[in-house]
Amino acid sequence: MKTAFTARRLYTPTEELPNPLVVVEDGRVARISSRPAAATPADTALVDFGDATIAPGFLDIHVHGGAGLDVMRASLSELPRFGQFLSVHGVTGYFATTVAAELDATYAALERLANAIEKSTQPNGGKPAARPLGIHLEGPFLSHKRRGVHPPEYLVKPTISIFDKLWQAARGHVRMLTIAPEIPGALEVIAEASRRNVCVSIGHSDAELPIALEAVKAGARHATHTFNAMRPLDHRNPGIIGEVLSNDSMSADIIVDGIHVSPEVVKVFLQSKGPERAVLITDAMSATGMPDGRYQLGPIQVDVADGRATANGSLAGSVLTMDRAVRNVTKFSNWTLKDAVRAATLNPADAVGLSGTYGQLVVGSAADFVVLSPEGGVLKTVVGGQGF
Ligand SMILES: [Zn+2]
Repeated sequence: MKTAFTARRLYTPTEELPNPLVVVEDGRVARISSRPAAATPADTALVDFGDATIAPGFLDIHVHGGAGLDVMRASLSELPRFGQFLSVHGVTGYFATTVAAELDATYAALERLANAIEKSTQPNGGKPAARPLGIHLEGPFLSHKRRGVHPPEYLVKPTISIFDKLWQAARGHVRMLTIAPEIPGALEVIAEASRRNVCVSIGHSDAELPIALEAVKAGARHATHTFNAMRPLDHRNPGIIGEVLSNDSMSADIIVDGIHVSPEVVKVFLQSKGPERAVLITDAMSATGMPDGRYQLGPIQVDVADGRATANGSLAGSVLTMDRAVRNVTKFSNWTLKDAVRAATLNPADAVGLSGTYGQLVVGSAADFVVLSPEGGVLKTVVGGQGF
Protein backbone atom coordinates (compact mmCIF):
# COMPACT_ATOMS: atom_id res chain seq x y z
CA MET A 1 0.00 0.00 0.00
CA LYS A 2 1.19 3.52 -0.81
CA THR A 3 0.65 6.57 1.38
CA ALA A 4 1.70 10.13 0.65
CA PHE A 5 2.37 12.71 3.36
CA THR A 6 2.37 16.45 3.01
CA ALA A 7 2.88 19.45 5.31
CA ARG A 8 4.07 23.06 5.17
CA ARG A 9 7.74 22.10 4.91
CA LEU A 10 10.19 19.23 5.25
CA TYR A 11 13.72 19.08 6.67
CA THR A 12 15.74 16.32 5.02
CA PRO A 13 17.44 17.61 7.43
CA THR A 14 20.25 19.19 5.36
CA GLU A 15 17.73 20.81 2.99
CA GLU A 16 14.40 22.52 3.54
CA LEU A 17 11.66 21.61 1.07
CA PRO A 18 8.42 23.64 0.90
CA ASN A 19 5.08 21.85 0.39
CA PRO A 20 6.67 18.41 0.36
CA LEU A 21 5.10 15.23 -0.90
CA VAL A 22 6.62 12.12 0.67
CA VAL A 23 5.40 8.89 -0.92
CA VAL A 24 5.84 5.86 1.32
CA GLU A 25 5.68 2.26 0.18
CA ASP A 26 6.40 -0.84 2.31
CA GLY A 27 7.81 1.24 5.15
CA ARG A 28 10.32 3.07 2.95
CA VAL A 29 10.42 6.48 1.29
CA ALA A 30 9.68 5.83 -2.38
CA ARG A 31 9.66 9.43 -3.60
CA ILE A 32 10.11 12.98 -2.30
CA SER A 33 9.12 16.07 -4.25
CA SER A 34 7.49 19.46 -3.88
CA ARG A 35 3.71 19.28 -4.35
CA PRO A 36 3.23 21.64 -7.28
CA ALA A 37 5.85 19.67 -9.20
CA ALA A 38 4.11 16.34 -8.71
CA ALA A 39 0.46 15.50 -8.17
CA THR A 40 -0.43 12.73 -5.71
CA PRO A 41 -0.35 9.38 -7.54
CA ALA A 42 -3.86 8.03 -8.16
CA ASP A 43 -3.52 4.84 -6.10
CA THR A 44 -2.17 6.70 -3.07
CA ALA A 45 -3.87 7.92 0.13
CA LEU A 46 -2.88 11.48 1.07
CA VAL A 47 -2.23 12.50 4.69
CA ASP A 48 -2.00 16.27 5.17
CA PHE A 49 -0.26 17.62 8.29
CA GLY A 50 -1.26 21.19 7.45
CA ASP A 51 0.99 23.91 8.83
CA ALA A 52 3.50 21.52 10.41
CA THR A 53 7.03 20.44 9.50
CA ILE A 54 8.03 16.89 8.60
CA ALA A 55 11.51 15.90 9.82
CA PRO A 56 13.35 12.61 10.16
CA GLY A 57 12.54 10.73 13.37
CA PHE A 58 14.96 11.45 16.19
CA LEU A 59 17.66 8.91 17.00
CA ASP A 60 18.88 8.52 20.57
CA ILE A 61 22.20 6.67 20.64
CA HIS A 62 22.51 6.90 24.43
CA VAL A 63 19.40 6.01 26.42
CA HIS A 64 19.02 3.69 29.41
CA GLY A 65 15.29 3.72 29.92
CA GLY A 66 12.08 5.66 30.45
CA ALA A 67 8.43 5.25 31.42
CA GLY A 68 9.57 3.21 34.44
CA LEU A 69 11.49 0.68 32.33
CA ASP A 70 15.24 0.05 32.39
CA VAL A 71 16.68 -1.50 29.21
CA MET A 72 18.98 -3.86 31.15
CA ARG A 73 16.09 -5.20 33.23
CA ALA A 74 13.00 -4.96 31.00
CA SER A 75 11.62 -8.15 29.46
CA LEU A 76 11.18 -8.63 25.74
CA SER A 77 7.44 -8.01 26.09
CA GLU A 78 7.94 -4.77 28.06
CA LEU A 79 10.37 -3.10 25.64
CA PRO A 80 7.72 -2.04 23.08
CA ARG A 81 6.11 0.09 25.82
CA PHE A 82 9.46 1.89 26.20
CA GLY A 83 9.56 2.33 22.41
CA GLN A 84 6.06 3.84 22.47
CA PHE A 85 7.11 6.27 25.20
CA LEU A 86 10.12 7.36 23.11
CA SER A 87 7.98 7.85 20.01
CA VAL A 88 5.71 10.28 21.91
CA HIS A 89 8.86 12.42 22.14
CA GLY A 90 9.71 12.08 18.45
CA VAL A 91 12.25 9.25 18.71
CA THR A 92 11.95 6.52 16.07
CA GLY A 93 15.17 4.60 16.69
CA TYR A 94 17.47 4.11 19.65
CA PHE A 95 20.52 2.31 20.98
CA ALA A 96 19.71 0.45 24.18
CA THR A 97 22.54 1.57 26.46
CA THR A 98 24.04 -0.56 29.21
CA VAL A 99 25.84 0.56 32.37
CA ALA A 100 28.65 -1.25 34.20
CA ALA A 101 27.00 -4.21 35.92
CA GLU A 102 27.94 -7.73 36.95
CA LEU A 103 29.26 -9.39 33.77
CA ASP A 104 26.84 -12.34 33.84
CA ALA A 105 23.88 -9.97 34.26
CA THR A 106 25.25 -7.90 31.38
CA TYR A 107 25.52 -10.94 29.08
CA ALA A 108 21.92 -11.90 29.91
CA ALA A 109 20.72 -8.35 29.23
CA LEU A 110 22.59 -8.28 25.91
CA GLU A 111 20.93 -11.53 24.79
CA ARG A 112 17.50 -10.09 25.62
CA LEU A 113 18.29 -6.88 23.76
CA ALA A 114 19.57 -8.80 20.74
CA ASN A 115 16.21 -10.61 20.66
CA ALA A 116 14.38 -7.27 20.79
CA ILE A 117 16.50 -5.82 17.97
CA GLU A 118 15.91 -8.84 15.73
CA LYS A 119 12.17 -8.83 16.51
CA SER A 120 11.79 -5.10 15.84
CA THR A 121 12.36 -5.53 12.10
CA GLN A 122 8.99 -7.29 11.89
CA PRO A 123 6.05 -5.00 11.10
CA ASN A 124 3.99 -3.95 14.09
CA GLY A 125 0.49 -2.94 13.15
CA GLY A 126 -0.31 -1.03 16.33
CA LYS A 127 0.89 2.21 17.90
CA PRO A 128 4.12 3.75 16.66
CA ALA A 129 7.09 2.62 18.73
CA ALA A 130 10.73 3.60 18.42
CA ARG A 131 12.79 0.63 17.31
CA PRO A 132 15.92 -0.63 19.06
CA LEU A 133 18.56 -0.37 16.30
CA GLY A 134 21.57 -1.53 18.26
CA ILE A 135 23.33 -1.65 21.60
CA HIS A 136 25.61 0.95 23.16
CA LEU A 137 28.01 -0.50 25.74
CA GLU A 138 28.63 2.31 28.21
CA GLY A 139 31.15 0.36 30.19
CA PRO A 140 32.45 -1.77 31.68
CA PHE A 141 35.75 -0.30 30.37
CA LEU A 142 35.55 3.05 32.20
CA SER A 143 37.96 5.11 34.29
CA HIS A 144 37.64 4.64 38.05
CA LYS A 145 38.31 8.32 38.54
CA ARG A 146 35.64 9.43 36.04
CA ARG A 147 33.17 6.60 36.53
CA GLY A 148 30.31 8.86 37.64
CA VAL A 149 27.70 6.52 39.15
CA HIS A 150 28.89 3.34 37.43
CA PRO A 151 29.62 0.96 40.35
CA PRO A 152 33.40 0.63 40.88
CA GLU A 153 33.16 -3.12 41.57
CA TYR A 154 31.83 -3.71 38.03
CA LEU A 155 34.49 -1.73 36.13
CA VAL A 156 36.67 -4.09 34.11
CA LYS A 157 40.11 -3.78 32.50
CA PRO A 158 39.59 -3.84 28.74
CA THR A 159 40.60 -7.04 26.97
CA ILE A 160 39.67 -8.29 23.53
CA SER A 161 38.45 -11.50 25.16
CA ILE A 162 35.86 -9.74 27.37
CA PHE A 163 34.86 -7.44 24.51
CA ASP A 164 34.32 -10.52 22.36
CA LYS A 165 32.15 -12.18 25.04
CA LEU A 166 29.99 -9.05 25.17
CA TRP A 167 29.86 -9.01 21.36
CA GLN A 168 28.86 -12.69 21.20
CA ALA A 169 26.15 -12.26 23.86
CA ALA A 170 24.75 -9.35 21.82
CA ARG A 171 25.04 -11.45 18.63
CA GLY A 172 26.95 -8.66 16.91
CA HIS A 173 24.40 -5.93 17.66
CA VAL A 174 26.91 -3.78 19.57
CA ARG A 175 27.04 -0.58 17.50
CA MET A 176 28.68 1.75 19.98
CA LEU A 177 31.26 1.44 22.76
CA THR A 178 32.14 4.10 25.34
CA ILE A 179 35.64 3.48 26.63
CA ALA A 180 38.31 5.33 28.62
CA PRO A 181 41.39 5.17 26.37
CA GLU A 182 43.94 5.64 29.16
CA ILE A 183 43.24 2.27 30.83
CA PRO A 184 45.82 -0.42 29.94
CA GLY A 185 44.45 -2.58 27.12
CA ALA A 186 41.99 0.05 25.89
CA LEU A 187 43.81 0.94 22.66
CA GLU A 188 43.76 -2.72 21.52
CA VAL A 189 40.02 -2.96 22.24
CA ILE A 190 39.41 0.34 20.42
CA ALA A 191 41.19 -1.04 17.34
CA GLU A 192 39.31 -4.35 17.47
CA ALA A 193 35.89 -2.73 18.02
CA SER A 194 36.54 -0.32 15.14
CA ARG A 195 37.39 -3.27 12.89
CA ARG A 196 33.93 -4.63 13.73
CA ASN A 197 32.34 -1.31 12.65
CA VAL A 198 31.51 -0.30 16.21
CA CYS A 199 31.43 3.47 16.76
CA VAL A 200 34.11 3.83 19.43
CA SER A 201 33.41 6.79 21.65
CA ILE A 202 35.85 8.08 24.24
CA GLY A 203 34.32 9.02 27.54
CA HIS A 204 34.17 8.40 31.29
CA SER A 205 37.84 9.25 30.92
CA ASP A 206 40.64 11.09 32.67
CA ALA A 207 42.84 11.01 29.55
CA GLU A 208 45.54 13.56 28.86
CA LEU A 209 45.71 14.96 25.35
CA PRO A 210 48.37 12.53 23.96
CA ILE A 211 46.26 9.50 24.99
CA ALA A 212 43.17 11.01 23.36
CA LEU A 213 45.24 11.39 20.17
CA GLU A 214 46.33 7.72 20.44
CA ALA A 215 42.68 6.70 20.81
CA VAL A 216 41.75 8.54 17.62
CA LYS A 217 44.66 6.91 15.80
CA ALA A 218 43.42 3.50 17.02
CA GLY A 219 39.92 4.19 15.61
CA ALA A 220 37.92 6.24 18.12
CA ARG A 221 35.82 8.81 16.29
CA HIS A 222 33.26 10.11 18.76
CA ALA A 223 32.98 11.33 22.36
CA THR A 224 30.38 10.45 25.00
CA HIS A 225 28.47 13.16 26.91
CA THR A 226 31.16 15.77 26.38
CA PHE A 227 32.22 17.51 29.62
CA ASN A 228 30.41 15.01 31.87
CA ALA A 229 32.63 12.33 33.42
CA MET A 230 35.69 13.77 31.65
CA ARG A 231 38.94 15.37 32.85
CA PRO A 232 37.98 19.07 32.83
CA LEU A 233 39.38 21.37 30.16
CA ASP A 234 42.44 23.36 31.23
CA HIS A 235 43.61 25.92 28.71
CA ARG A 236 47.29 24.99 29.09
CA ASN A 237 46.78 21.27 29.60
CA PRO A 238 43.61 20.63 27.60
CA GLY A 239 43.34 16.85 28.02
CA ILE A 240 40.66 14.79 26.30
CA ILE A 241 38.25 17.72 25.86
CA GLY A 242 40.91 19.65 23.92
CA GLU A 243 40.99 16.85 21.36
CA VAL A 244 37.21 16.34 21.28
CA LEU A 245 36.48 20.01 20.61
CA SER A 246 39.35 20.76 18.22
CA ASN A 247 39.42 17.61 16.05
CA ASP A 248 37.18 18.35 13.05
CA SER A 249 36.98 14.68 12.09
CA MET A 250 35.40 13.71 15.43
CA SER A 251 31.73 13.91 16.25
CA ALA A 252 30.67 14.30 19.86
CA ASP A 253 27.50 14.16 21.89
CA ILE A 254 26.15 16.24 24.72
CA ILE A 255 23.23 16.23 27.18
CA VAL A 256 21.30 19.47 26.61
CA ASP A 257 18.99 19.47 29.63
CA GLY A 258 20.49 22.65 31.11
CA ILE A 259 21.59 20.62 34.17
CA HIS A 260 24.45 18.43 32.95
CA VAL A 261 26.15 21.28 31.05
CA SER A 262 25.44 25.00 31.44
CA PRO A 263 23.68 26.70 28.51
CA GLU A 264 26.76 28.85 27.84
CA VAL A 265 29.02 25.81 27.55
CA VAL A 266 26.42 24.07 25.36
CA LYS A 267 26.78 27.06 23.04
CA VAL A 268 30.58 26.77 23.01
CA PHE A 269 30.20 23.06 22.20
CA LEU A 270 27.76 23.72 19.33
CA GLN A 271 30.07 26.38 17.90
CA SER A 272 33.07 24.09 17.99
CA LYS A 273 31.45 20.91 16.63
CA GLY A 274 29.16 22.73 14.21
CA PRO A 275 25.85 21.62 12.67
CA GLU A 276 27.63 18.67 11.00
CA ARG A 277 29.18 16.96 14.03
CA ALA A 278 27.22 17.94 17.15
CA VAL A 279 25.05 15.07 18.39
CA LEU A 280 22.26 15.25 20.96
CA ILE A 281 21.70 12.39 23.38
CA THR A 282 19.38 12.14 26.36
CA ASP A 283 21.24 9.64 28.63
CA ALA A 284 17.71 9.22 29.97
CA MET A 285 16.98 6.63 32.64
CA SER A 286 13.86 4.77 33.73
CA ALA A 287 12.42 7.71 35.72
CA THR A 288 11.97 9.73 32.52
CA GLY A 289 8.29 10.53 32.09
CA MET A 290 7.55 9.40 35.66
CA PRO A 291 6.95 11.22 38.97
CA ASP A 292 9.81 11.96 41.40
CA GLY A 293 10.93 8.96 43.41
CA ARG A 294 13.40 6.06 43.54
CA TYR A 295 14.27 4.23 40.30
CA GLN A 296 16.79 1.76 38.85
CA LEU A 297 19.59 2.44 36.38
CA GLY A 298 20.87 -1.08 35.71
CA PRO A 299 22.14 -2.16 39.15
CA ILE A 300 22.22 1.44 40.47
CA GLN A 301 19.53 2.93 42.68
CA VAL A 302 18.73 6.49 41.63
CA ASP A 303 16.73 9.23 43.36
CA VAL A 304 14.85 11.68 41.18
CA ALA A 305 13.67 15.07 42.42
CA ASP A 306 13.01 18.31 40.50
CA GLY A 307 14.33 16.99 37.19
CA ARG A 308 17.64 15.76 38.69
CA ALA A 309 18.53 12.08 38.84
CA THR A 310 21.27 11.39 41.41
CA ALA A 311 22.97 8.50 43.16
CA ASN A 312 25.15 9.33 46.19
CA GLY A 313 25.19 12.97 45.15
CA SER A 314 26.41 12.38 41.54
CA LEU A 315 24.23 12.94 38.47
CA ALA A 316 22.94 9.53 37.37
CA GLY A 317 21.65 9.85 33.83
CA SER A 318 18.90 12.32 33.04
CA VAL A 319 15.14 12.60 32.70
CA LEU A 320 15.55 14.49 29.43
CA THR A 321 13.50 13.70 26.33
CA MET A 322 14.84 14.23 22.81
CA ASP A 323 12.17 16.75 21.76
CA ARG A 324 13.10 18.93 24.75
CA ALA A 325 16.82 18.59 23.92
CA VAL A 326 16.10 19.84 20.39
CA ARG A 327 14.09 22.81 21.68
CA ASN A 328 16.78 23.58 24.29
CA VAL A 329 19.38 23.86 21.52
CA THR A 330 17.32 26.59 19.86
CA LYS A 331 16.99 28.34 23.25
CA PHE A 332 20.63 28.07 24.34
CA SER A 333 22.14 29.08 20.99
CA ASN A 334 21.26 30.89 17.78
CA TRP A 335 20.77 27.59 15.94
CA THR A 336 17.67 27.17 13.80
CA LEU A 337 15.20 24.36 14.45
CA LYS A 338 16.52 22.72 11.27
CA ASP A 339 20.10 22.57 12.60
CA ALA A 340 18.90 21.41 16.02
CA VAL A 341 16.91 18.65 14.31
CA ARG A 342 20.02 17.64 12.36
CA ALA A 343 21.90 17.12 15.64
CA ALA A 344 19.20 14.63 16.67
CA THR A 345 18.87 12.83 13.33
CA LEU A 346 21.50 12.81 10.57
CA ASN A 347 24.46 13.53 12.85
CA PRO A 348 23.93 10.57 15.19
CA ALA A 349 23.20 8.37 12.15
CA ASP A 350 26.45 9.51 10.54
CA ALA A 351 28.37 8.97 13.77
CA VAL A 352 27.29 5.33 14.02
CA GLY A 353 27.19 4.49 10.31
CA LEU A 354 23.40 4.23 9.90
CA SER A 355 22.74 7.27 7.71
CA GLY A 356 22.00 5.09 4.66
CA THR A 357 18.65 4.14 6.22
CA TYR A 358 18.05 6.32 9.29
CA GLY A 359 18.38 9.95 10.30
CA GLN A 360 17.42 11.49 6.98
CA LEU A 361 14.48 11.52 4.60
CA VAL A 362 15.68 10.53 1.16
CA VAL A 363 14.52 7.98 -1.39
CA GLY A 364 15.17 4.53 0.08
CA SER A 365 15.40 5.59 3.72
CA ALA A 366 13.09 4.19 6.40
CA ALA A 367 9.76 6.07 6.54
CA ASP A 368 10.51 7.12 10.12
CA PHE A 369 9.58 10.72 10.71
CA VAL A 370 8.29 13.24 13.16
CA VAL A 371 5.73 15.99 12.56
CA LEU A 372 6.75 19.18 14.39
CA SER A 373 5.01 22.41 15.31
CA PRO A 374 6.91 25.64 14.47
CA GLU A 375 8.18 25.64 18.10
CA GLY A 376 9.51 22.09 17.81
CA GLY A 377 6.65 20.36 19.61
CA VAL A 378 5.96 16.77 18.54
CA LEU A 379 2.52 16.50 16.90
CA LYS A 380 2.88 13.01 15.46
CA THR A 381 5.48 10.30 15.04
CA VAL A 382 5.48 7.84 12.17
CA VAL A 383 7.58 4.65 12.26
CA GLY A 384 7.94 2.56 9.12
CA GLY A 385 5.14 4.54 7.50
CA GLN A 386 2.76 3.56 10.35
CA GLY A 387 1.12 5.50 13.17
CA PHE A 388 -0.40 8.60 11.54
ZN1 LIG B 1 24.66 6.87 30.18
